[in-house]
Amino acid sequence: MATAYRSFALDSLTVEYTDRDSEFVEATHQDLAESARFLTDFFELKEAFPPIRTILVPDRVEFDRCVKEILKIGIDVLSNPWIVAAPQRTDLVVLSPLAWDPGTWRYSPKTYGRLLLHEATHIFEEYLSPNIEAAPMWWSEGLGVYLSNQWTEDKDKLRVMEGIQNKTIATLADMEAARKLSDAATKLCFVWGWTLVMFIDQRYGKRMTGRIVRECADGDVFRVLQTSRESLEKEWKEWLPSLYNAFPPFPRPIRGQFWSASACRCTVAAQPPGDVRRRRTSRCTPENRQRRSES
Ligand SMILES: [Zn+2]
Repeated sequence: MATAYRSFALDSLTVEYTDRDSEFVEATHQDLAESARFLTDFFELKEAFPPIRTILVPDRVEFDRCVKEILKIGIDVLSNPWIVAAPQRTDLVVLSPLAWDPGTWRYSPKTYGRLLLHEATHIFEEYLSPNIEAAPMWWSEGLGVYLSNQWTEDKDKLRVMEGIQNKTIATLADMEAARKLSDAATKLCFVWGWTLVMFIDQRYGKRMTGRIVRECADGDVFRVLQTSRESLEKEWKEWLPSLYNAFPPFPRPIRGQFWSASACRCTVAAQPPGDVRRRRTSRCTPENRQRRSES
């Protein structure tokens, strides 16, 4: 039997839900409204953003069905317990926190708010981008994790900080190998991509972040930045210790020749950007990745 949904609509945001999930409706609407306001401001949108429809689904079977039939995404995430939300254009499918696998996400109002902001970031990016299929995964997921402040969540932050300390930092080439969501390289995009986006935001300013989203039609982020891939990677790695020192997971700052503080020409904001959120539009689909890799 088809799942029976109710609908709550206010200010161009609609949340469809089942009776069991009525406790999340207000938070879902409120978090998405705040996300839309933040992103409208961040990307300096002149016009009102189009209506966004969110479907809060009660279980994994219904999640997979909606991703396939409503979003029309043929992704490799079906039944992947880590994937709890998927956007496409202005539609968003979210798995009820009551159905999250205990070994993956742990619900809290903050975690949920960040998740929705991450997804809203993808929705705005797709709306603004001249060719969303071309955007590198490290850029899109990095942007989602960065703007949503998901990077402040302990496990992700700790992995980056340990990597900086141990000098086991992902390379751009490592991240560029990402083709589908189940790739190990894709995980690197989620773990390290935000540090690149934060570096670009701090070095070039937030307007540049908006320009990359609006102008990068061919996936060549470096062209928009007017720098080479090699230079950007080098400067990013020189900057990473300042990130570590601003948000240290361990008591001692990193010093020394390799991690010379003088090499860091910009500082990390003491406060993260507005408490703002995660996965993927059509460009993350294996089909699209495949198409791109074939083209
Ligand atoms: Zn994402």
